[in-house]
Amino acid sequence: MTVLARKIRLIMKLRKAGITDASVLGAIERVPREAFIPPMFHDQAYEDTALPIGRGQPISQPLVVASMTQELRVNDRHKVLEIGTGSGYQASILAKLCRRVYSIERHRPLLATAEQRFNELRIRNITCKAADGMKGWIEQAPFDRIIVTAAAGDEPPPDLLDQMSVGGIMIIPMGRDKASQFIYRITRGETEYTYERLMPVRFVPLLPNIARNGPDRQEQGSHGQGAYAQETYEEEAYALPEHVPSDEEDDFFSGAQRFALQPA
Ligand code: SAH
Repeated sequence: MTVLARKIRLIMKLRKAGITDASVLGAIERVPREAFIPPMFHDQAYEDTALPIGRGQPISQPLVVASMTQELRVNDRHKVLEIGTGSGYQASILAKLCRRVYSIERHRPLLATAEQRFNELRIRNITCKAADGMKGWIEQAPFDRIIVTAAAGDEPPPDLLDQMSVGGIMIIPMGRDKASQFIYRITRGETEYTYERLMPVRFVPLLPNIARNGPDRQEQGSHGQGAYAQETYEEEAYALPEHVPSDEEDDFFSGAQRFALQPA
């Protein structure tokens, strides 16, 4: 099957799964996902699956990227903050839809590779830094939209809540363990934050501080630093988190659960 045919098959699948926003589907069509993954996985670039990108980290599954982007309700006037640059794929999708993306990654080598890709693809509206994304990016705040692509525990990082503009939206996976993670949409009103539980997912954890060389112990994989061998990527592929389709997924497309919290 040609790359184009695979891409069309993926787009059809996303539409069937509830991605109806034409601008999101257009961005998925225009950003070459193969440019964000190691060559040995290029034949799987348009499968709906997460893939290893090194340092024990994955590029998210296309359906999860598309769903989170759609739920973020982003437009071309928005300033967006992403936590977890990873491969740079999600940031590149957002870059097609908004004014500017600020993206933070705690693994320096992943960030360096992602920035190289933005250059090669001539994507000019992404600004990145290596830092602990849980602290946000105070010099650039407030943000119209925030997307977190690693899982928080029970609560979103307080700095990220503070750095949302009024009327702003944050999309963030949360849950104490991998078996009970959900994407939440948090909307900041004048006096309160509204939380909506969207779809069940499995993300790698949001971890504090900048990573030292190699993956942290809490992260998947147990290899040290250095060049990645094929086996290492393959090991990681087995351990990858993925979107888990379940009965609860019906909630996602037929109206999410909604509840409101007062700010602390
Ligand atoms: N958005 C990425 C997928 C990211 S996987 C993509 O499109 O490819 C999650 C990423 O979050 C990993 O790269 C991990 O290193 C990063 N991460 C985890 N905790 C973080 C933190 N506190 N600050 C910044 N990045 C973090």
